[in-house]
Amino acid sequence: ESAALSQIGLAGLAVMGQNLALNIAEKGFPISVYNRTTSKVDETLDRAHREGNLPLFGQYNPRDFVLSIQKPRSIIILVKAGAPVDQTISALAAHMEPGDTIIDGGNEWYENTERRILEASNQGLLYLGMGVSGGEDGARNGPSLMPGGSHEAYLNIRNILEKVAAQVDDGPCVTYIGEGGSGNFVKMVHNGIEYGDMQLISEAYDVLKNVGGLGNDELAGIFEEWNRGELESFLIEITSDIFRVKDEETGNGGLVDKILDKTGMKGTGKWTVQQAAELSIAAPTIAASLDGRYMSGLKEEREAASEIFRKEGLKEEINNVGVVDKKRLIDDVRQALYASKICSYAQGMNLLRAKSVEKGWNLNLGELARIWKGGCIIRAVFLDRIKQAYQRNPVLANLLVDPEFAREMVQRQAAWRRVVGLAIQKGVSVPGMSASLQYFDTYRRGRLPANLVQAQRDYFGAHTYERIDRPGSFHTEWSKLA
Ligand code: NAP
Repeated sequence: ESAALSQIGLAGLAVMGQNLALNIAEKGFPISVYNRTTSKVDETLDRAHREGNLPLFGQYNPRDFVLSIQKPRSIIILVKAGAPVDQTISALAAHMEPGDTIIDGGNEWYENTERRILEASNQGLLYLGMGVSGGEDGARNGPSLMPGGSHEAYLNIRNILEKVAAQVDDGPCVTYIGEGGSGNFVKMVHNGIEYGDMQLISEAYDVLKNVGGLGNDELAGIFEEWNRGELESFLIEITSDIFRVKDEETGNGGLVDKILDKTGMKGTGKWTVQQAAELSIAAPTIAASLDGRYMSGLKEEREAASEIFRKEGLKEEINNVGVVDKKRLIDDVRQALYASKICSYAQGMNLLRAKSVEKGWNLNLGELARIWKGGCIIRAVFLDRIKQAYQRNPVLANLLVDPEFAREMVQRQAAWRRVVGLAIQKGVSVPGMSASLQYFDTYRRGRLPANLVQAQRDYFGAHTYERIDRPGSFHTEWSKLA
């Protein structure tokens, strides 16, 4: 039976696991697969057969699965994050030996990975927490991979990961991220940035539709055109496709218009915002996108509120559609979207840097931007420019002050202000774009009204303040002097 052993194993054959296993097999690495519910093993074997007799071998229990892999074994787990990962590890680890490696490819909370690294090391096992991005299609055809944890474990499977990952002009979309749970943490921030991108794109759509009066066909064309310029990215591309899809149920209008305006989410965006708060990093665009999802969930309340305010005389539907210069609006929105995006990425990158300092991960921000250039959901042409910005200056305080990005912000700020101003005037909410603009305007100002906040704190709480003109800490009896 066991003539040749597999080079690697993968447990957990839902959407992600199945596709990643087929990808690995297709690159010529014999792989053993296993799933708790064994029908998925057969399903995967069937696909491996149909997709070109790929070297993929099904196993039906943890022991046979582990023993079918050559030593030192590397086993990828792709099951639901949390307790299922612990359960899967204990089922497999019972048959694993010192020097073998567990690689969790799920969207796991990084502290769970750090706990499991310790547990695994008690048994002599190595561990990687590996972010995998790109959804089903990425897993099958080339994801962006973010492995963190044991460097030795990474070196054991580096050649496989480099073949399996998406390929871009400057290499495969994988790199060793750092120690501990850094791989999961980086994937979490990637998802937070993804939330921001999706929110900003949906606001661009809202403004073009409800202020500019544009229809789905026009929108499809605009996004297609944008995808040929500085905004070129996966999310812009699929947005263009989405506007072209008609509703087959009713045969009437675009499908996008029939979709309930209530967003789902799985938690990585919330974690990103929580971590930003923990680390005192301002991430207003990502937070606005999370709030946007929360408020979208209040569908019934929003409809009731819309009715209440309509009765009070507030028109929800924008009245002056058509009075704006469409061509200029479209061009302004493109610039607003780009500038807003840069602010959002700046926030994500600063969060990564702060965590890296706290944990001693030594994250290479330029390299992270590089491995996001392909395979993942936020893949975009402009990530190459972010990579270059951090290569030019690894200790860049903020992307906004990179000379190239600084120039671009200045070139786009007038259009950006017009879009946000117009949206506010028309009552179209643009929380992401305005959060980005506020982030920019706050960051670029040498003097903020925080002096007054300090005075208030000192007034009521004797918290003291510093002065701009000499060192030291001061307290004033404000009420006596007033
Ligand atoms: P999923 O729906 O998150 O999980 C289903 C898999 O988990 C099945 O193989 C299931 O086995 C297994 N499982 C659940 N509870 C288990 C338990 N107690 N013991 C053993 N196995 C258990 O699958 P997915 O969508 O493929 O995602 C896998 C991971 O990748 C998740 O962490 C997800 O967040 C992450 N991820 C997903 C995407 C995506 O686009 N879907 C993208 C990036 C990352 P049974 O068949 O036996 O139930």
